[in-house]
Amino acid sequence: MAIGRINSNDVKRNLLRLASIGQDSSGAVNRVFGCIFMDQEKNEIIQYFQECGMTTSVDTVGNVHGMYSVAGEMADEIIIGSHYDSVKGGGMFDGTAGIVAAAECVREFASCRKQCLYNIHVIATNGEEGNELGGTFGSRALMGILPTENNDFLKKAMKYGYTALDLKNAQMNTRNCQGYLELHIEQGNILDNGGEKIGIVSGIVGLVRYIVHISGCSNHAGTTMMNQRDDALVKAASLITWVNKRIKEYGQKMVATVGEIHVYPNVPTVIPGEVSLIVEVRGLNGPSIYRFVQELTEKVNNTAGGSITCLVKKKPVTCSSRFMEIIKQACLAEELKYTIIQSGATHDGNSMALQMPIGMIFVPSKNGLSHCKEEWTSWEDLADGVQILYDTLVELAT
Ligand SMILES: [Zn+2]
Repeated sequence: MAIGRINSNDVKRNLLRLASIGQDSSGAVNRVFGCIFMDQEKNEIIQYFQECGMTTSVDTVGNVHGMYSVAGEMADEIIIGSHYDSVKGGGMFDGTAGIVAAAECVREFASCRKQCLYNIHVIATNGEEGNELGGTFGSRALMGILPTENNDFLKKAMKYGYTALDLKNAQMNTRNCQGYLELHIEQGNILDNGGEKIGIVSGIVGLVRYIVHISGCSNHAGTTMMNQRDDALVKAASLITWVNKRIKEYGQKMVATVGEIHVYPNVPTVIPGEVSLIVEVRGLNGPSIYRFVQELTEKVNNTAGGSITCLVKKKPVTCSSRFMEIIKQACLAEELKYTIIQSGATHDGNSMALQMPIGMIFVPSKNGLSHCKEEWTSWEDLADGVQILYDTLVELAT
């Protein structure tokens, strides 16, 4: 199947090159949305894409586009890419690996002068990691799903220099898009534990986030007897324990987390009068998530002083079975051990899937670590992943 070989030295050299921007002396990458390093990275990516044979542009929300127009102006296109921001104190591979993978595929296409049915459109997206404007900022702008009518959102966007018009103008015409493919590090330990080299992603889990408020009654912690108390934190603790116990009964790889809690007044001498906490639920099965949320809502409503409000709702995304099959065939041809895997983390694919089929290729994360400076994927594993992306593109586009 393969007609070209990815050069692993080019992969390594350019990964180190892009990862070095915003990298501190400890090795951690701090390329946070809106920071000065993002501008530097943007310029480096433009230069890199041009070296690989693409024409480049930057859209109104800071996504970098590289176009390899081998099939002519009117031809359909395949989109590949990943994000160029990182979390604070992040690793070298998250996002960057997918950008390098995409660019190196184009370099190989260009050097083979391979005839393509489709143009290849590489996108390095802006603000995929959680940030003030919400994660997957760049890809949501591309798909035209930013809340551009919301004044609070517009005010926040202005802080980063984006006007309402900028947010709207980034929307792309997807009529001629055949699909979106992304290589990403797994950010979990399934591949590393199982010894597989490639994860063929079946879908990206849906995510809901609810804020729960529980009121009680603040009073003196010394003079108020136990049977006289209405302790908001005690009520919250019971709810947290219920969330953890109940979600396990759902199985299906569903997870629920209370990762944030605020206690008022949060002093040792006062009985807590107000608590707010955030419950997050993730899973691939939309109806199950919905059912759990219904149960949670009932539980909160039955708690004295309890109320619940939705903060975030992202539907689960299913990857294209056609793309999955092509990736699988590529793994068989390259003799690379693979497994089918669900993504527990959100990706730009969540947005892209609204308007086109998507596919994702995971490469192993050593010890399952990510979003930290210890994040690591061996150069060999990375190059293998890029080769699979390349083989997949060849199958799709030629
Ligand atoms: Zn990422």
